[in-house]
Amino acid sequence: MKIAENIKYIQNNIAETLSKMGRKDEVTLVAVTKTHPVEVIEIALQLGIEHIGENKVQEARRKIPMLKVPYQGFHFIGHLQSNKINQLLELKPCLIQSIHSLDLAQKLHLALGRTNRSQDILIQINSSSELSKSGFSFEEVKEAIWQIAAYPTLHIKGLMTIGMLAEAEVSRPLFAKMKYLFEEIKELTIPNVEMKYLSMGMSNDYVQALEEGSNMLRIGTGIFGERSYGANE
Ligand SMILES: *Cc1c(COP(=O)(O)O)cnc(C)c1O
Repeated sequence: MKIAENIKYIQNNIAETLSKMGRKDEVTLVAVTKTHPVEVIEIALQLGIEHIGENKVQEARRKIPMLKVPYQGFHFIGHLQSNKINQLLELKPCLIQSIHSLDLAQKLHLALGRTNRSQDILIQINSSSELSKSGFSFEEVKEAIWQIAAYPTLHIKGLMTIGMLAEAEVSRPLFAKMKYLFEEIKELTIPNVEMKYLSMGMSNDYVQALEEGSNMLRIGTGIFGERSYGANE
């Protein structure tokens, strides 16, 4: 099975890179399962994948409740529209990685308050400043984190970014800047903020991301092969 080989290959690469960097910390691998059917996701779970990521609420609602193989958590990694917040919360995501605006944070807080729940989140940063991507800018993110940290239902657990899709080395300075910001925010010791996860690195640039300090990778194509949009979306 190709998926088994792919997972092994990626895990070896992760281990080698960590050892080369002299790192002993843990890296979380999130298998990005968007467009892939439940049966394929279950194969990955049976092979030891513990975290899965989806980027669309509709698709997640259709697939997540069908999964029969146990795993640790479902991560939401896509652009979250405020009218889908309640549907997403029903799926009990372990981490919403893509908090991209103060407005979204406030609406999520209100929705959680109504059901007496709390939620772990990451703050998404538009590190490449591309208009097609959502997230806070480097300039505005610290102030935003202070504001979001004031919502008792939201627990900030770190930062997330998407690199430049074009070429991995182009993303390296962005990843380095993210790591610097991550450490800076850690030192601010803001109440209700724990800088635990630095989520960056995808199929094409996860080695560069790891070298620059990522500890959470989101990998789809590298595990499942190319996505075909259509049938399973
Ligand atoms: C699709 C997606 C990924 C995975 O991309 P691959 O290149 O297939 O590894 C990671 N993060 C986000 C936010 C995505 O939408």
